[in-house]
Amino acid sequence: MKKLLVSLSIFTFLWACNSEKVNEQTPAKKNILVQVSVIDALLQGIYDGIMPISELVEYGDLGIGTFHGLNGEMVVLNDTVFQVLSTGAVAKPASDVTTPFAAITAFSADTTFALEDISYDSLEASFNSFFPTPNLFYAVKMKGEFSYMKTRSVPAQSEPYLPLAEVTKNQPEFEFNQVKGEIVGFYCPAYAQGINVTGLHLHFLTADRKGGGHILAFNVKKVSLEIGYLPEFKLILPTSGDFLGGDFTVDRSEDLEQAEN
Ligand SMILES: [Zn+2]
Repeated sequence: MKKLLVSLSIFTFLWACNSEKVNEQTPAKKNILVQVSVIDALLQGIYDGIMPISELVEYGDLGIGTFHGLNGEMVVLNDTVFQVLSTGAVAKPASDVTTPFAAITAFSADTTFALEDISYDSLEASFNSFFPTPNLFYAVKMKGEFSYMKTRSVPAQSEPYLPLAEVTKNQPEFEFNQVKGEIVGFYCPAYAQGINVTGLHLHFLTADRKGGGHILAFNVKKVSLEIGYLPEFKLILPTSGDFLGGDFTVDRSEDLEQAEN
């Protein structure tokens, strides 16, 4: 599979194909955000996978994304890739299953907070208070108990692909009450519009690994919130397929609002 590795320099320039991949000799450098494709590709229905998940997890142990053909929500937690299907069931996909869009990091917490009794909306509104500046990327991990959780997944698509905002009009949604589990995701700064979801983008996995998905709402009962600062960003783009003919001149922020919330 042809891929072009493009290094996007945010603070530090990284050469593609270098040594921050995880292996036994050289553990992954911590807290580099590695991303496959861009959110505006997904929004216009570019769902063909370009990287097998076996390769994706070489870049880290905490991440989110989706799968070839938009087949469910991805949660990467502690090196394991989970696939929350549109039925609500959670699968562990084969290593050759590919992703068209994902973000992953070798997570290391820079700060930890204890949270109780807070809604997603309140947390989102006050999230800037948990880190020094809204102008960096951050990895987010929360573990504990939620009095309420609402998620969604997306049904697998076949070509011709519909835009994401069309697909999510009929998204299956799942509700959990008094549930234990983990949230993983990212905070992206405003200038990342078009590249990733700006602000918080979080996925959930239950402690029993039987449910989860893309988070729409929650109420925290009691959790630990860990945040890893991500001062480096490596962007890996498709070099073949629909991406090359995609239209990236359009402002898709309203589609994103529709698709993500
Ligand atoms: Zn999502």
